[in-house]
Amino acid sequence: MNWDKAMGLPSKSYKCGHCGESLSSAQGYLSKGSRNGQNVTDGYIYVCHSCKKPTFFDVYEGTQTPGPVIGNPVKHIPDADVEQLFNEAKSCYSISAYTSSVMCCRKLLMNISVAEGAKAGKGFADYVNYLNDNNYIPPNGKKWVDSIRKLGNEANHKIEFRTKEEAERILVFTEMLLRFIYEMSGIMMETESPETPTETE
Ligand SMILES: [Zn+2]
Repeated sequence: MNWDKAMGLPSKSYKCGHCGESLSSAQGYLSKGSRNGQNVTDGYIYVCHSCKKPTFFDVYEGTQTPGPVIGNPVKHIPDADVEQLFNEAKSCYSISAYTSSVMCCRKLLMNISVAEGAKAGKGFADYVNYLNDNNYIPPNGKKWVDSIRKLGNEANHKIEFRTKEEAERILVFTEMLLRFIYEMSGIMMETESPETPTETE
């Protein structure tokens, strides 16, 4: 991507919501507006020099769109659908779509549980219990289990909007689980020598 007529701007440090890079950019565009009869700069678009994608900053609302990517990438996820849904959960969070983010994570946790041997067609809390009972949750993660279980309470089919804090909690939990189940075992396989020499006598 090559942005035409991008101008020099005051340098700004931010975490790019597209690629996750922390950077300082001084290239982009600005918006001139008026406020209380004064001409002011009310918005900036900065272009990330890593991925070349634009991020909008609203000066008066103090917001960044898309917001910074939450968490870190997880390696060795064997299932492309799981990886895509995890990225979607993070994308929802970055545009403040917290309820959607929580729904993606719930779906992910169910999916992971079934892939790891849980029976399909159960309730969300059953899957969290399954992961807990089968030692997929490391000891320091167990205190999370109750609070994550509560995010699955949909018994009355009411629409319940989720908060930023709730979305963040279930995302951090999901990332921890993906790292524990897939990334750690993937790294283990990488470090094991593919050809173990056999000793001959
Ligand atoms: Zn970027």
